[in-house]
Amino acid sequence: MNQPDRRLSLTLLLAYSLAFSLTLAAVLPGAGTGQLVRVLGAGVIGAGLVFAIGRRFERRVETRSELLTDEVSTARAVADRAEDDRRLLEQVLAVVRQGVVLVGEDDVIAYTNPAANELIRPSDRLSSLVPHGLQTLVRQARVEQRVTEGDLEYGSPVRMLRAAAVLFPADKRVLLTITDVTTSNRMEAIRRDFVAAASHELKTPVASIIASTEALGLALAHDPASAERFATQVERSARQLAKLVSDLLDLSRVESSTMEAESVDVGQMVEVEVARARAVAADVEVDLSVEADRVAVMGSRPDLALAVRNLLDNALRHTSRGGSISVTVSASNGRCHITVADTGEGIPRRELPRIFERFYRVDSARSRTTGGTGLGLAIVKHVVEGHRGEVSVESELGVGSRFRIDLPA
Ligand code: ADP
Repeated sequence: MNQPDRRLSLTLLLAYSLAFSLTLAAVLPGAGTGQLVRVLGAGVIGAGLVFAIGRRFERRVETRSELLTDEVSTARAVADRAEDDRRLLEQVLAVVRQGVVLVGEDDVIAYTNPAANELIRPSDRLSSLVPHGLQTLVRQARVEQRVTEGDLEYGSPVRMLRAAAVLFPADKRVLLTITDVTTSNRMEAIRRDFVAAASHELKTPVASIIASTEALGLALAHDPASAERFATQVERSARQLAKLVSDLLDLSRVESSTMEAESVDVGQMVEVEVARARAVAADVEVDLSVEADRVAVMGSRPDLALAVRNLLDNALRHTSRGGSISVTVSASNGRCHITVADTGEGIPRRELPRIFERFYRVDSARSRTTGGTGLGLAIVKHVVEGHRGEVSVESELGVGSRFRIDLPA
């Protein structure tokens, strides 16, 4: 009770007490002045008593109402907190990538979060939940009273979903969680294929080194004239192995490197790489020319140099004597263009979409004998895409190939 209210009620109480004693004095028959004074005196004492009792009563009411006020505000705080918690939970469920579906004991779908609506067909009853495998998981969780899990395929294009159903024994509700594992499954398959392919690629030169070394040993004992042939074979296979390991390390480095970007003068960098390739070009009698503008690109100098080196290496390996290779660097529309064109053997049209894949070669035997690993273009693609660029190729069998890298300048 606030201060003015309290004062008002005290005044009223006092007034009632006085009125009561005055009325008593007035109604007493044949009352003299002395009696009137006594009655008034008694009235004042009575009023005082009533006032005192009233005051105590009022204090009790005040304490009780203060308690009530406390209880009300506590209840309100609890309700506010529950509302905050509910809102927070809803916000979390709205942004998580995992689908969440709550199925009631009566098989009514009590809640579906936005991610679930995107992964499965929205439904309000368990019996119409699609994919059907989800219904099985929920029923199984109820019967077996444990968490049930399963992989399901759904949608177009097909996505791989990993679902789990958890039973709440208290109210028999079942919580379904659905995770899209399409990408992670695909990455895992790529990783497995890569390990298998890399092991296979490593096995070939290793087997050749072992066989040639054994043959070399026998030749040294029985046929020294043929020893040199086997020694050459050992050396060739060892070089092939070394190149393979070096390309694998390059690929792993460009894949895992958190690029430290610097301003790279692409024209100058390309000229350095062309200068390095001149000795080999002279060896195979291929004309090598370069026309490089000064274009600056933000990126990793060693990685960009590695990409250009791989394109040059390919051009040199696939261009026969008397052919030519021309390299250019130019800029237009805020892009930097690097081209490496050769007059070599060219690539069949149907092979073009696959040549950037790891270990893909148009002619495996030829690639190996010329020192290829099938990783060169995969490294180029990775570096270029890591720089937000694109790599493309035009080629005609027997005429030549032209690789082009476009980067943001
Ligand atoms: P490799 O180590 O075998 O050269 P790459 O990934 O560098 O592997 O290239 C993949 C395939 O693309 C090669 O096996 C080759 O058949 C073809 N290729 C690449 N560059 C050229 C080119 N300049 N001329 C002809 N074919 C090429």
